[in-house]
Amino acid sequence: MELSLNLAKSHPGSWLNFKTEILIDDALLSNRFCKKDGFSYLSGELMFDGKEVIVKGQGELMLDCVCSRCGEEFKYNFIFEFNSAFLDKTDAKDEDEEYYFKGDSVNIDKAVVDTILINLPSVLICKEDCKGLCPHCFTNLNRFSCNCKNEDE
Ligand SMILES: [Zn+2]
Ligand SMILES: [Zn+2]
Repeated sequence: MELSLNLAKSHPGSWLNFKTEILIDDALLSNRFCKKDGFSYLSGELMFDGKEVIVKGQGELMLDCVCSRCGEEFKYNFIFEFNSAFLDKTDAKDEDEEYYFKGDSVNIDKAVVDTILINLPSVLICKEDCKGLCPHCFTNLNRFSCNCKNEDE
């Protein structure tokens, strides 16, 4: 996700629209039992203020997930806000601490992936009222009822 800064640099202070595909390694989503599903986009505006590049917008990540409660697969559209500042690489001090742009382009991959991993819920369930599995016979209680449940009642 490399965004060109040619126009931004020739128009400092102006917000310019952009739209780009979100790239994220499925391995980073595996502990949330998700993988990327199809095209996902981040769109918004970027601006060069003479020193830093500010990129802000909204992302929509299409995910294929496994419900933590019932184990069924479900589609999840994760919407997130993105807002990051990128410093000039030539002024870089500690490269791990900040995000940078280099020359006439800015690579926003790391900042976007960090934003996703910070904001994506660590436990994902297929629906708010997912009944999960019966702890005794592992029946999916969204679909069926079981005898153990009846005995409890
Ligand atoms: Zn579920
Ligand atoms: Zn049961």
